[in-house]
Amino acid sequence: MAGTGVWAVRSLTVAKPPVEEAMVAPEERLMQWLRDAHAMEEQAERMLSGTAQRLRAWPEIRLRLVKHLEETRRQSIAIQGCIERRGGRVSIVKDLFARTTGLAQALSAHLVGDEVVKGLLAVYTFEQMEIASYTILRVAAERVGDSETMAVCDSIIAEERAMAAWAQEQLEPTTRQYLSQAPSWAA
Ligand code: MG
Ligand code: FE
Repeated sequence: MAGTGVWAVRSLTVAKPPVEEAMVAPEERLMQWLRDAHAMEEQAERMLSGTAQRLRAWPEIRLRLVKHLEETRRQSIAIQGCIERRGGRVSIVKDLFARTTGLAQALSAHLVGDEVVKGLLAVYTFEQMEIASYTILRVAAERVGDSETMAVCDSIIAEERAMAAWAQEQLEPTTRQYLSQAPSWAA
């Protein structure tokens, strides 16, 4: 059985990706990732506006979500600017919308009763995905010498990190507050 395991690991190591995938030029890959980022921000916009609408009973959390919603719209426009500056078109982005992960929808689909807790979970998780995505995108921009896209990534990463840190800070106090509002059958 151990031999099978070693063989499996070796075959994975030796396996090569299909040639057409491996040979994409860095410029083309950057354009693909810019379009992915733009689609991700459109999903973020839906997730944030949907969650904010549900959290009318939590005005302070709602306020921060709305603030990030505005940041998200500016991020989307900035990424659109990078795409167009590099000769791409944003109309194509709309067609590629289905390529995105669907994470936002998956995360916000279960907001029942405990929406403030699940909403923070969704926001925190989505921000981590955004931080990772822009970290990757920045390397692709660096690879082709696109310093303007690098600067856009830096500025967006700062906003996503701030939002992720805020969401993380809310997790414990908000969960405690949520649980203290629920009817207690133990008392
Ligand atoms: Mg964003
Ligand atoms: Fe974000």
